[in-house]
Amino acid sequence: MSQHPQTNAIRIQTERTNEMEHSTPMFLTSSFCFDNAEDMRAAFADESDDNIYSRFSNPGVQEFIDKMCALEGAEAGFATASGMSAVFGSFMALLKQGDHLLSCNAIFGSTHTVIAKYLPKFGISHSYISADANEAAWEAAIRPETKMIYLETPTNPGLDVLDLDMIGRVAKKHSVILNVDNCFATPLNQQPIAFGADLVVHSATKWLDGQGRVLGGVIVGKKELIKEIYLFCRSTGPSLSPFNAWVLSKSLETLDVRMERHSANALFIAESLEKHPKIASLRYPFLASHPQVAIAKKQMKNGGGVVCFDLAGGLESGRRFLNNLQMLSVTANLGDTRSIASHPASTTHAKLTEEERQLVNITPGLIRISVGLEHKEDILNDILQALEKN
Ligand SMILES: *Cc1c(COP(=O)(O)O)cnc(C)c1O
Repeated sequence: MSQHPQTNAIRIQTERTNEMEHSTPMFLTSSFCFDNAEDMRAAFADESDDNIYSRFSNPGVQEFIDKMCALEGAEAGFATASGMSAVFGSFMALLKQGDHLLSCNAIFGSTHTVIAKYLPKFGISHSYISADANEAAWEAAIRPETKMIYLETPTNPGLDVLDLDMIGRVAKKHSVILNVDNCFATPLNQQPIAFGADLVVHSATKWLDGQGRVLGGVIVGKKELIKEIYLFCRSTGPSLSPFNAWVLSKSLETLDVRMERHSANALFIAESLEKHPKIASLRYPFLASHPQVAIAKKQMKNGGGVVCFDLAGGLESGRRFLNNLQMLSVTANLGDTRSIASHPASTTHAKLTEEERQLVNITPGLIRISVGLEHKEDILNDILQALEKN
């Protein structure tokens, strides 16, 4: 009997132990026992699937991976200690000296650091294309040595939406691996594999956990690519802790309902603030005013939980806005039950030049709101009173 991914995210579970537990148990063990020397030899020779050591595999970690594969429609996966180790592992396992990585200039800050500062140490080159590039521009950016396309959509924090169907077509035509960071949408709102992605990476720290508790990451996708990533990670050690895997696996049981509410609250906030006199412009993927709304509606079920707006007063008004908030948290995370406000120009993106920030729509007065699960009117009222004082 085939079931919906949402059901699998709730019902996939490690085999019940002799204790007959209902909720999934935690497997806090670094290694696993063998009945005899022969079984241990066979496990090391890859002749059996028996667990050996938690740097390689762990039942609770596998449960989290299996749920993510069900949600993303993927063949296989590997879970990592953070989103960045998932991103880095997907690069290092599949790229080699002389290869070229094509990405978009609107990507997560640490991902940019990995691509621009560390990959060149290994002889891996890169180039960036703008988020609104059309098919001809993507085609033109592919080089003979291009091995992978890496992108995020919607982007953090500018909320640009990239056309997965079009880029998937380009990747396929040139036999390039398409690797998509699906952190902002989550698989409940967008499944990049259905549009031709070969790999999907996640920071599980964000919406997948959803309560700001643990760091985690995961890579899912084509079996033969995941095999290479598994071999790289098993030897280099960025594996997800079994405790964090347990937290994340339980979180996936509520991801569907959480993302529906996050998205509905975010749409309400976006619609309520769009015309506010102190806001110069506002972005949300499902608003008619978003430049890529048609693409967003084609590839996403809901617009997700992040809303961005530009305060007319610039840098200082961005800082004042944060100081005037009474309920919203001022913190670096996103994807929490609690609404969070951040000011990229003075924090996460302060090290970029003004020109680099402009390229990716990070204006001095840009505020990013990660819309939580509080009552939508309480979230709105706090933002309104802070705007009032601005
Ligand atoms: C946070 C984030 C990451 C990195 O994840 P960590 O779990 O913090 O390592 C990668 N991509 C995006 C889009 C993110 O928001």
